[in-house]
Amino acid sequence: MAAKIIDGKSLAAAVRAAARPQVEQLAARGVQPGLAVMLPGDNPASRVYVRNKVRACEETGLRSEMHEFPGNIEEAVLLERIARLNRDARVHGILVQLPLPRQVDAARVLSAVSPAKDVDGFHPQNLGALVSGQPGFVPCTPAGVLRMLEHEQVPIAGRQAVVVGRSNIVGKPMALLLLQKDATVTICHSKTAHLGAITRQADVLVAAVGIARLIGQEMVKPGACVIDVGMNRLADGSLAGDVDFEAVKTVAGWISPVPGGVGPMTVAMLIANTVRAAARSIPGGA
Ligand code: NDP
Repeated sequence: MAAKIIDGKSLAAAVRAAARPQVEQLAARGVQPGLAVMLPGDNPASRVYVRNKVRACEETGLRSEMHEFPGNIEEAVLLERIARLNRDARVHGILVQLPLPRQVDAARVLSAVSPAKDVDGFHPQNLGALVSGQPGFVPCTPAGVLRMLEHEQVPIAGRQAVVVGRSNIVGKPMALLLLQKDATVTICHSKTAHLGAITRQADVLVAAVGIARLIGQEMVKPGACVIDVGMNRLADGSLAGDVDFEAVKTVAGWISPVPGGVGPMTVAMLIANTVRAAARSIPGGA
């Protein structure tokens, strides 16, 4: 039986629609959630992602502002701008679009964002909160994946979950979220031996690698839920995930497509986090 295709686009639209009443309530109290997007360098993919995020903000009634910098920007200038945005009461969320230029220390820059405005959830304080199960901002992509799993009522507790990829922004937080939901979690990476034998154990398989169609049909347990985070630009300009969608959909129970899967959910969770940051900035806010 063919897999159920998880429609990230329509779920993302629902998440954004759910944010609207909150935006209106905040407006009634004189607050418009504001997101500042920092875009250093001239990475074409980053530019597309940022454009999508800014458009989604506008459609949901949020205010957004762009802060663009040339590729040779000095780290001190970025840090100074972040300090200014941290103090700006109209800015509730600060997003630093990755990757950063080589001369900039990403860890230092991400740590400079106030944890209360860290709507991407990359600040060590928010990552620490995730590790210890405390409230905080959860990175948008893994949060979006979890929302997809919950919406589809994919069983997680007591099941085997395998996350391929161990980046700080996707793989590791994804594994922690699945662990919080009582999955038995395995994390794979570039040094993992016998990858296919491990992924084949997975009831829930999340691929966040950056290699087009790495996950083939023979690597997937029949009936598994396969979530494809990968976004890989092919030579012909088209977009492909880390999963061989056409082959895997014939064995999986659920599968998310690329495009139209995790990507829109990442943007929706960013909106949700920014609205939450705005609500928390006012007395008695959530
Ligand atoms: P990174 O490059 O930071 O991490 C990739 C991970 O994949 C690393 O942990 C690496 O292992 C692992 N890896 C590399 N090769 C293999 C292999 N052959 N077998 C198993 N594991 C391997 O990428 P990100 O986590 O930032 O992103 C991953 C993918 O997700 C990319 O395609 C990116 O574009 C996409 N993405 C999509 C988003 C969305 O909204 N849809 C948001 C963010 C990312 P090691 O640690 O050993 O190097």
